[in-house]
Amino acid sequence: KKHYNNDYCEYNNSMANNFQKKQYIINNIDSAIKKGNIKVYYQPVVNTVNGKLCGLEALARWDDEEYGFLSPADFIQTLEEYHQISKLDLHIVERVCMNLAYTKEHGLKQLPVSLNFSRLDFSTQNLVEDVDYYLKKYDIDKNLVHIEVTESTLSESDERLKETFNKFRKNGYDLWLDDFGAGYSGLNVLKEYDFDMMKIDMKFLRDFNGNEKARKILKNVITMAKEIGMCTLTEGVETEEAYQFLKENGCEKIQGYLFGRPMPDNEFYEKLKSGLYELDL
Ligand code: C2E
Ligand code: MG
Ligand code: MG
Repeated sequence: KKHYNNDYCEYNNSMANNFQKKQYIINNIDSAIKKGNIKVYYQPVVNTVNGKLCGLEALARWDDEEYGFLSPADFIQTLEEYHQISKLDLHIVERVCMNLAYTKEHGLKQLPVSLNFSRLDFSTQNLVEDVDYYLKKYDIDKNLVHIEVTESTLSESDERLKETFNKFRKNGYDLWLDDFGAGYSGLNVLKEYDFDMMKIDMKFLRDFNGNEKARKILKNVITMAKEIGMCTLTEGVETEEAYQFLKENGCEKIQGYLFGRPMPDNEFYEKLKSGLYELDL
């Protein structure tokens, strides 16, 4: 399928299993949401200057009776392919709002959460109104959620997309550009869209050790982002050395295994309650 230049291809068990899994995902997304099997995991976002916790990223996980624990790599693409991704994304929005309401009720500090959206959400949904709806329902402040879109979804001269982005910003949401540098959209799109934050893809930290060019590129990406009015967050920070480099070079926020892996929402709140985190207030 989709390999039009091949006259033949071999069909094997792994292809059959993949196809079965895809079908399973499509057939079960509604019930998985209903049963609470789609969970929110949170990964800490840290202020580079003081090393304190300043926010969270919400990441979806599917805890399934048959397939066990599924990561986004197992289901996001399939849900996109079958135009079912908005169901999952809006479910995550609602769960995050519920969590934020919970923290308020329990007198805990409300940390801003960034939410991942697919390109399709922007074309098939009234996304701004939908997100507004959940925030209103749970009485959540708009500066507590950030809208993430991956760089690979952008193309030049997409007026409709630009309009939706601007609407989010006008309505008081921060718009974050995810995975910058991972895709192929190039620097030109930066001229056309306005983002509050550039999330620098973890690719930039690969070969970081000993590759002088890698360091220079990363340093200059941070400077460029600043010059065009964006803050920066680097993803995939796993070593103290990378952390120090980013701190020295003015990257404001960081995320990565050095500060914490994504964890179930309840686990995060237990840690927060026990005072494990120093907060950037
Ligand atoms: P992302 O938004 O760029 O999220 C960061 C990914 O990097 C997460 O993978 C996270 O677990 C991983 N990561 C974080 N720190 C490190 C590190 O130090 N080292 C390494 N090697 N990896 C790290 P995850 O959770 O598997 O998510 C993968 C992607 O799936 C996300 O990339 C995002 O694009 C997408 N995704 C996740 N949740 C959702 C969702 O609710 N909706 C949509 N549309 N996409 C989602
Ligand atoms: Mg993201
Ligand atoms: Mg990313």
